[in-house]
Amino acid sequence: MTTIGIFGGTFDPIHFGHLRTALELLQALRLNEIRFLPAGNPPHRETTVASAAERLAMVRAAIRDQSGFKVDDREIRREGLSYSVDTMRSLRTDFPESSLCLIVGMDAFLGLTKWYRWRELLELTHLVVAHRPGWRAPAMGLLGELLVDRGTSRIDDLHEAHAGRILIHAVTQLEISSTEVRKLIGAGRDPRYLMPEEVRGIIEESGCYRTKK
Ligand code: ATP
Repeated sequence: MTTIGIFGGTFDPIHFGHLRTALELLQALRLNEIRFLPAGNPPHRETTVASAAERLAMVRAAIRDQSGFKVDDREIRREGLSYSVDTMRSLRTDFPESSLCLIVGMDAFLGLTKWYRWRELLELTHLVVAHRPGWRAPAMGLLGELLVDRGTSRIDDLHEAHAGRILIHAVTQLEISSTEVRKLIGAGRDPRYLMPEEVRGIIEESGCYRTKK
């Protein structure tokens, strides 16, 4: 069975914090691939600074030479905001025989029970929680119970079932955020060494973070 990681985000822009996390998970969890899945934009309103096409181009450029990294443009093609559960259902349809691992940060995981149809989500995919220092796994409440039920530290569990387990995994932390990167570029500073050169080139050429805030 192939095991596919799904890494969603706005990627506005993609940076080494995203890429390093993905590479460590690809290798440590023995995933066959990681699909970078940029979020779509609502039809009549921009919630991102760079356009969907620019964000997609930056992700493509960033992952080009890493085997196992793929781009998945299904949310951008659909337009509008997508619920994770709908995206995962669509992926499940495309990859009926694969194990799917949705990658989320601990901060996102702590809000899981507020996600739209979150229980259904766990029927469709595993959750891999990329652990940041300073975040502790919840021991109590609904999430605490969920972790007792579904939590595992055994990587093979991700490969042996298609969905339904939760694995928390520590990754090297690079304190880079897209918001800070945009601010820095907006202030006329150079984002070099925070992102691949190809991404920096696209930003420079398009000017997508220069004038807009
Ligand atoms: P912003 O600063 O605008 O919130 P971001 O840098 O968090 O943006 P997103 O595209 O929203 O970028 O993030 C996509 C995913 O990557 C999220 O799950 C987020 O938790 C994770 N992520 C973001 N930055 C890092 C980082 N430095 N290291 C590890 N994971 C990160």
